[in-house]
This record gives sequence, C-alpha cells and structure tokens, in this order.
Amino acid sequence: MDFTKKLSTYAKLVTDIGVQVKEGDTIVIKCPIERADFARLLAKNSYEAGAHSVIVNWSDDDLTLMEYENSPVEVMEDIPQYLYDRNEYLYEKGAKFISVYAANPELLKNIDSEKIQRVSLAMSMKFKPLMKYTMNDINSWCVVSVPTKAWADKVLPESKDSVSDLWELIFDVTRVNLEDPVKAWKDHLQLLLDKATWLNNSNFKYLRYKASNGTDLDIELPEGHIWTAASSLNAKEEEFVPNMPTEEVFTLPKKDGVNGIVYSSKPLAYNGNVIDEFWLKFENGRVVDFDAKVGKETLSSIFEQDENARYLGEVALVPFKSPISDSNVLFFNTLFDENASCHLAFGKAYPTTLKGGDAMSEEELAAHGVNDSFIHEDFMVGTSDLSIVGIDHEGKQVNIFVDGNWA
Ligand code: ZN
Ligand code: ZN
Repeated sequence: MDFTKKLSTYAKLVTDIGVQVKEGDTIVIKCPIERADFARLLAKNSYEAGAHSVIVNWSDDDLTLMEYENSPVEVMEDIPQYLYDRNEYLYEKGAKFISVYAANPELLKNIDSEKIQRVSLAMSMKFKPLMKYTMNDINSWCVVSVPTKAWADKVLPESKDSVSDLWELIFDVTRVNLEDPVKAWKDHLQLLLDKATWLNNSNFKYLRYKASNGTDLDIELPEGHIWTAASSLNAKEEEFVPNMPTEEVFTLPKKDGVNGIVYSSKPLAYNGNVIDEFWLKFENGRVVDFDAKVGKETLSSIFEQDENARYLGEVALVPFKSPISDSNVLFFNTLFDENASCHLAFGKAYPTTLKGGDAMSEEELAAHGVNDSFIHEDFMVGTSDLSIVGIDHEGKQVNIFVDGNWA
C-alpha cells in the first residue's frame, strides 16, 4: 500500500469505526494545523457518510508556547465564557467529537511551572461541568493521533525522516497495515469484549499487583463495578470507539480501597513536561507519599489540582505483548503508551464503569466509592514481570496477569 492509500484507510477507520458517522451528524474535529491534510480527509469522509456539518478547531503548539511566553497569567486564567458556551452547545446538539492529539511532550519545559499549573487548574475548573458529556458517554468521541515534527523527533531521535517513520508506526499499531483493517478491528474489539465479560463474571473484590521493580499494590473494586472495553454506546445507543488504538480492559477502583506502593513503568507526558521513574504510596486510596527522578514538581502539580487527584479513578489491564509494546518505542503520548501497558489513572472515574452510574447524582456516586476530580490522567505501571491476582468474595485467588500478560 502506498502512503496516500494508508492515510485514507486510517482516516476511514476513524470516521467509520471511531465515531461512526451517520446521516445528519455534526462532527467536531480538533487537529494540529500542521496536519491539516488529515483533518480534511476526516471532514471529507464525514460528509460522504452523511454528516450535515463538520467543524474544525485547529491547535498549534507554536502559538500555545507563544501565549505562555507572553500572555500574563491572570489573562490566561480568565477563560472566556464563549469557549465554554460553544462546547456546551455542541455537546447538547449531540455532536460527535474527533480529537487528533499530537502535542510536543516537552513544549512547556522552559515555562514557569507555577504558571502552567495555575492555567491548567483554571481550565479544569472552568470545563469540569462538560466532562460528563464524554465520561458518561452522552456524546460519541474518539481520540487518535498523527505525527507532528516536534513530537516525531522526540519519539525517533535517530531517524532521518521521523515524521514518515512515525506514520509507519502509527499505521502498524492501528492495524492499517493489515490486509483487511476493518475486519481486523472488529475481531480485535471482540477479543477485548471477551476479556471484559470474563472479568465481569468473575466479580473480583480485590486485585493484587506485584512486580520486581517494587510494585506491591492492593486495589479493591467496588460492588457493581463493570469491566469495559473497546467500544461504547452514546446516549442515542450509537456505537463508538473512544481510543484508536485501544488494547485496554478497564474498570474503576473503590476510591478508598487502594493500599501499597506502585512504580511507574513509562514516562508520563503531562502539561508540556515529562515525569519519569516515579513511585506512589497509597493508604486507603490516597497518595500519601511519592517521588520522581524526573519531573517531581510536575507530578506534585497534578495533586494540587484538587484533593481527589490524589485518588485513583481507573484500573486498566493491557498485555505487555501488544502491537505497541512490540514496536519497542516510547511514544511520550499517553494514547499510545497507555495501550502498551497496564495503567491506572489519577482523578475522576468513568461513571459508566459502575452499574447504573451514569444515572447517579454526584452524591450517589461518592457513596458508591466513585472518585470525582477536575482531572483524569492515566499513568503506566505494566512491566514484563507484572503479576495480577484477582481475589473473589469467597477469598479464592485467580491469576489474571502472569509475567505481564493475560494468564
Ligand atoms: Zn485507560
Ligand atoms: Zn484513562
């Protein structure tokens, strides 16, 4: 397959399998302006599939950096109401959202960390009420990625043509390079669903994580937790796939039921900075101690977002052996790195991972042990020797992961 063909196959997967565009839809695309070619392909596919309206929001790392370098923090913190209103209008209209994420992981490394934190907190607080539209699966949404020069250079520093090489990697891990990518995706989604069904039938009360890096963590799962994978249904019962690639089967932990210590297994790119080689100690769900060889300040800025950022909101199982891990590349982009490694998330849990959760009030969710926060941030803990044992309500132990992979 030549490059143009692969690119259009990839764009087709996003519109057909990702958000699954239907007649009359409004499609909102967020995309780096450097990849306008890709946004246009997505728009073309969407119209061809019957979309009535395609709205594109461009992002641009250079402009973002310029803003951080020049705009006063008080101005940046004052998020205009029209940005909120515009998004709320589109969510309420039932639009489907495609987010093409390809940030330079070190974009803000020379910006004062307090400024980054104040702006990020202001944004989280402002947009918090809108989180429900995606986290409760009211609207269809899909996050994908494309290479930009700055990001590709960070991922493949030795490459002579990092953008083309990163494209090839992305085509590999999103199954574009396979003979029949649509069928490959459908088969893959079914495999993930089978794992989720097995975990739901097992109804474990605890998960016990152990690895030679020092990880020794117990995670309690709340009554009524649901293991979810692959695809979701929006409020109109239309299917969508929120992440491409996706290799995870995930649920939520009981907010106050996490105890022990966990070590990170991959760097985490957060707010234009990289955090690496960190560990977290939990007591009754709360991070009570932590350290990081790289980016400790950035890590602590996550916890300063709000009190509940210190608690977990997601437990995700991903085999160590997957197309992404097999590439042996660190992407410095959570969409890829989280799908190559078991991960956990700081902050808000998906209400959809609890029985009846999407119809519960904030108080009801809290009473069921569901964490709520301004943030939801995944971090990677899976290693080649990670073992995860499930313990059911009778105390019976079952191997879930052995040596980093499904038992
Ligand atoms: Zn996840
Ligand atoms: Zn997550």
